[in-house]
Amino acid sequence: MSEQYEQSELYKLRHTAAHVLAQAVLVLYPQARLGIGPPIADGFYYDFDLGVDENGRAHSFHPDDLPQLEKRMRQIIAGSHSLNYQQVSEAEARQQFANQPYKLELIDELADKGEPISVYQHDSFVDLCRGPHVAHTGKIPADGLKLMSIAGAYWRGDEKRPQLQRIYGTAWPSKQELKEHLAMLEEARKRDHRQLGRELEIFILDEDIGPGLPLWLPNGNILREELEKLAHEMEDKASYQRVSTPHIAKDSLYLQSGHLPYYEDEMYPPMEREGGRYYLKPMNCPFHHKIYASKPRSYRDLPLRLSEYGMVYRYEQSGTLMGLLRVRAAQQNDAHIYCAEEQLEEEFMAVIDLYRYYFSLFGIEKYVMRLSKHSKAKLGIKYVDNEPMWLKAESLVREVMQKHAVPFVEAEDEAAFYGPKIDVQIWSAIGREFSLATNQLDFGVPPRFDLTFTNQRGEQETPWCIHRAPLGAHERFIGFLIEHYAGNFPVWLAPEQVRVIPITDEQNGYAEQVAAQLKASGVRVQAMLESDRMQAKIRAAQQMKVPYMLVVGEREAAAGTVSLRKRDGSRQNGLSLAAFAALVQEKIACRDGDL
Ligand SMILES: [Zn+2]
Ligand SMILES: [Zn+2]
Repeated sequence: MSEQYEQSELYKLRHTAAHVLAQAVLVLYPQARLGIGPPIADGFYYDFDLGVDENGRAHSFHPDDLPQLEKRMRQIIAGSHSLNYQQVSEAEARQQFANQPYKLELIDELADKGEPISVYQHDSFVDLCRGPHVAHTGKIPADGLKLMSIAGAYWRGDEKRPQLQRIYGTAWPSKQELKEHLAMLEEARKRDHRQLGRELEIFILDEDIGPGLPLWLPNGNILREELEKLAHEMEDKASYQRVSTPHIAKDSLYLQSGHLPYYEDEMYPPMEREGGRYYLKPMNCPFHHKIYASKPRSYRDLPLRLSEYGMVYRYEQSGTLMGLLRVRAAQQNDAHIYCAEEQLEEEFMAVIDLYRYYFSLFGIEKYVMRLSKHSKAKLGIKYVDNEPMWLKAESLVREVMQKHAVPFVEAEDEAAFYGPKIDVQIWSAIGREFSLATNQLDFGVPPRFDLTFTNQRGEQETPWCIHRAPLGAHERFIGFLIEHYAGNFPVWLAPEQVRVIPITDEQNGYAEQVAAQLKASGVRVQAMLESDRMQAKIRAAQQMKVPYMLVVGEREAAAGTVSLRKRDGSRQNGLSLAAFAALVQEKIACRDGDL
């Protein structure tokens, strides 16, 4: 959540709505124990423990309970109760929350840390809280409020602690904004990449393979190959050299890179063989560093740009896995650019330009670049302990971005352990936010690998290293693209570009001929020769979101033409096959986003 949001009226409004929800729950379920209730990106939640029944089973909310809770919330809102802040002593807080064990635990912690304890009170309800809140409950628009869903949530996210019931709600300044938000959610549900990924036969997850380890189906693999082809073309143009590296390596490599022990929690446990400990690679970087170091380098070799669509394995927590968006095996559009300091500006900007080219190609209109910096307090813990180099690297990035008028924001304590980076957040066509690419400036690792080059004065110098992955990983990026396009991929990406549909079996021969000719000119095409009715074949092609359908009947067969039906419903009859082939080849060659 952005700092800007955390200071907004909307944030206060949602925070206050969470308090009102807790009060409503206590009115209807006086035995409820309260957990916490913060605002979140597009609403708020509150966690409750409703206790257990005589059989020891946890009481739980049911979706049918939500309307009644909403009604009670509206009554509280109508009371326009003012929210009053008060600092209290530890003893007062304990007394106030004597029946609320979870709150007592929070009070213990605040007291241990010596932090001030404060409460917010409105009407008869008091909550342990720092704020901020709106002035009174009447500021919450009664018709901009909705309770959305119920979920289980462990107290403090710890599965060894009690499971609480979380009620999610949303609140907006007006009824209209709530309506738009709900419409957006409905659209997002329709575009959900997990659903579409199955329907369009892009990927599957299988329990026997394991969580977070997707299997790419033939259609999905076409998407991957098209993206790789694009990346290869762009990287060839920019004089990258491709390399390939293994999926596992010995612990000594990761000790040298610093991934061990700092990154160990996110790595799969090691395999032992012949006295060696091997780890699945969580990143490609150290492998590329070894390739750099495999022979002496001079300033004439720089910039050296090594690229690889490299597979990486990270042990993400099972609770965070989500379709293709968070996985445990991912293939990254990775590269490392080794260069001298005077080459940094040009190299760094070339990467930023590459990002912008990709964004325009995919119709990504909204994106934000963020300069992620170190935190002074965490030098030597989370970050390489070299403050002067941090300041230098951060100001280098800042200056390059400013000089080229690239808008960006800055954030502390978000850097990589070896240097600052530009992180890019992108928004899909329906406004869903994804964090995608990074462009990192590394001063910390090249010295650990003794990377050097001979400069023009004949001295040994340490190169800088830029880590970049503009398309992120296939997994995440394709997950994004499915939702962004709602499965309606542009022609160049579409797994099946053309489907030929004969009107009757009589035209099967002609349909095959059309398909064969298009296939020979590099188009992904199939002819539907089943004896289904034509309408059923058209519906099947529409379900698979095939961009072009060619309907061929007696007339087309006789004239050597096709009738084109585009995915958007537009039609063109009596098109010569040559003219259609030229159209589709042009769309593919230019990677045109329009049909
Ligand atoms: Zn609060
Ligand atoms: Zn890297």
